Amino acid sequence: MNTQIFTQEVVNLHTHSYYCGHGFGEVEEYAQQALEQKLQVLGFSEHCPVPDDRWARTRMPNASLSPYSEDCLAVRDKYEGKLVVLRGFECDYLKQYHSYFTDYILGEMDCDYLLFGVHDLSLDKDEEYSMFWNKLGKKDLFTYTDQYLQAMQSGLFVFGAHPDVFAYNYRTWDKEAEACSKAIIECAVSCNVALEINANGMRKKKIETESGNRYAYPIFNFWDLAAKSQVKIICNSDAHKPEYVNDKYAECKEFADSCNITFASFQIARKATGGYNLSVV
Ligand SMILES: [Zn+2]
Ligand SMILES: [Zn+2]
Repeated sequence: MNTQIFTQEVVNLHTHSYYCGHGFGEVEEYAQQALEQKLQVLGFSEHCPVPDDRWARTRMPNASLSPYSEDCLAVRDKYEGKLVVLRGFECDYLKQYHSYFTDYILGEMDCDYLLFGVHDLSLDKDEEYSMFWNKLGKKDLFTYTDQYLQAMQSGLFVFGAHPDVFAYNYRTWDKEAEACSKAIIECAVSCNVALEINANGMRKKKIETESGNRYAYPIFNFWDLAAKSQVKIICNSDAHKPEYVNDKYAECKEFADSCNITFASFQIARKATGGYNLSVV
């Protein structure tokens, strides 16, 4: 099998096109920008729809699964030899969708990789409780952490996106925030799931705290703890526009340096089916 190792500076695995409903640009425009911005590996990670269209407000409909997949494959073939194009999904994980992800998305569709994020607290009611649009209390922080741990324990995901996204709306670093962060980091180590410094939080308005302004996310306190553990750490643009495909790498690297973090690398192997196996090493 043809296996290659790529370092972080030439890889972005977190990309949303117009398919997700809140992103812009065609799949191919991202590939063009990726080459201009010196990437060697570009992963598409549209928010994965689920059969009952839960979370439909913030992701592509089921009907777009095939066109999205075909676009990715066409771009993969067109840029062969210049850019490694991976076809993936960003999932929200709940146990009831486990077999859908394994049997259909990873199985029948043979997609290259899955990542996950917790965007909504899936409480026992019809409405989701968005991590992005609501104030978060301690109970919400605990629910978030439980959901994040369950996703890592599922064994489906190469990495977890924006683990410190809670800090966007849970703005104090207190003992609960520290305990939840440690639980996430320890679980990531034991499940061998990498954690992602997410550049999209750097694009949001800075948050004022008693100790000065900080990013919405990433936050220093979380990643300082992560740096002291064995967890594998990567960064991604979380691009929602083609020009964002690798625009924040230098800023991510600077942030990582400030936390004493060395980024992990990526091992990518070609499969007989034409797709890829991805792991963080
Ligand atoms: Zn996300
Ligand atoms: Zn995303």
